[in-house]
Amino acid sequence: MRYPTLEQFIAGEWRPGGDGVCGVVRNPATDEVLAELPRASASDLDDALTAAQDAQAPWRRTPAMQRASILLRAAALLQERVESIALTMTLEQGKTLAEARVELGAAIESFQWYAAEAGRAYGRIIPARIPGARQMVIQEPIGPVAAFTPWNFPANLPARKISAALAAGCTMILKPSEETPASTLALAQALADAGLPKGVLNVVLGVPDQISSHLIPSPVIRKVTFTGSVPVGRHLARLAADHIKPCTLELGGHSAALIFEDADLDTAIPLCALGKTRNAGQVCTSPTRFLVHESIHDEFVGRLVQAMNGVRLGSGLDPSSQMGPLANARRIAAMERIVNEAKSAGARVEAGGERLGSVGNFFRPTVLTRVPTDSEPMNVEAFGPVAMVRPFSTVDDALSEANRLNYGLAAYAFTQSAATAVQVSEELEAGGVGINSFAVGHTEAPFGGTKDSGYGYEGGVEGISAYLHSKYVHHA
Ligand code: NAD
Repeated sequence: MRYPTLEQFIAGEWRPGGDGVCGVVRNPATDEVLAELPRASASDLDDALTAAQDAQAPWRRTPAMQRASILLRAAALLQERVESIALTMTLEQGKTLAEARVELGAAIESFQWYAAEAGRAYGRIIPARIPGARQMVIQEPIGPVAAFTPWNFPANLPARKISAALAAGCTMILKPSEETPASTLALAQALADAGLPKGVLNVVLGVPDQISSHLIPSPVIRKVTFTGSVPVGRHLARLAADHIKPCTLELGGHSAALIFEDADLDTAIPLCALGKTRNAGQVCTSPTRFLVHESIHDEFVGRLVQAMNGVRLGSGLDPSSQMGPLANARRIAAMERIVNEAKSAGARVEAGGERLGSVGNFFRPTVLTRVPTDSEPMNVEAFGPVAMVRPFSTVDDALSEANRLNYGLAAYAFTQSAATAVQVSEELEAGGVGINSFAVGHTEAPFGGTKDSGYGYEGGVEGISAYLHSKYVHHA
């Protein structure tokens, strides 16, 4: 199966790692080595900084409509290349080809959406204090961006950052995940082929901390954006704060799904199984704590177990697979730890609870009940196909358990009552709320966490604001 040789993209040129290689990329379905990972040297990173700096002024002066047409050309090229990039993504990340195609569709949408937003980054005229004067607010690109993206959505998460920053007129240096770099590099290739000027986007590869600790303190970088875990987000935010750089952080979650007694279970159960096993549960908004009204708890558990047991687990390349392997061996260890901690705290394993086979990172869709709220699994992000179900008796009980954690990314409720829907939409402490739906990440809508889940937004009109500075001009 064809997987590309990995190279960095700096100043419009492809180049190997100045410091050789620093590891390998593996196929999580077979454990096979796909490629060696180049290791950026300090001089590669300096070259990327110089390229981003040199390209910043001409890119900012490039009319918004021209920036937009490059993004649209890149979107069209990505559309032509969907099948080959989806294959690359499945090889390096494990998700099914169907999921990879959907992800690429979302990445393409981001390029299209922000192409249009480029021409709508309006300023405003404020009524003047003095007759004949002008008081204006002009939206300007904030400057070169350092971006860091993870392995769970290796095309869409970088696409959201790249498209909004480039539309705003910013240049960027991006470090994708060391485990899934090729899907991200395919975006850079499409932009290069679409005529993106040299240095506007640079992609560097290598040791994460070496790269972030080199880029973030540089005076060239004016903005930091990161998607990943809370501990790494905290570390990068500290580094950014030391150098007074604004930050956007999209971090983890531990989402609750409230299933009320009037929920339509025929609709809810398949959605819950799909929501929990999409991308093998490695989604920051994945539902993990299923809080179910006590009157339907046992029925819900029985039907969820049946649905989870019915999910076909296998290689993402096999069209009959509905869930692929976990993306890396760390996730298997994490799932085993969750199940063991839950069992020793008195929980029952209703489905799954173990890996499948010894080759690849396959872990069975898992349902746990009676997991105490003070045990680790109910408090630490699962980031895998593990559902924990607990009963509740009143709306207030459900809301207080849903809001108990320091995570605040997404929360869900299944109900047919408009009054309950309004109440929980207002009282759930989360950046996004899904009612009878797990879809809270649309290109045209803001996506961002509260509490430890981060700050700032991607998507919607808010997404481009992250890369804009409001300059005030008073012309007396
Ligand atoms: P991790 O925290 O080690 O790494 C997550 C990402 O951060 C990786 O892409 C890595 O390259 C990057 N990273 C790590 N240290 C960095 C540094 N010093 N500078 C710049 N980038 C750095 O975690 P992991 O083992 O890959 O995943 C574990 C947890 O991360 C998961 O359980 C989940 O909670 C979280 N996660 C969240 C998302 C998300 O979409 N919010 C995505 C992936 C992982």
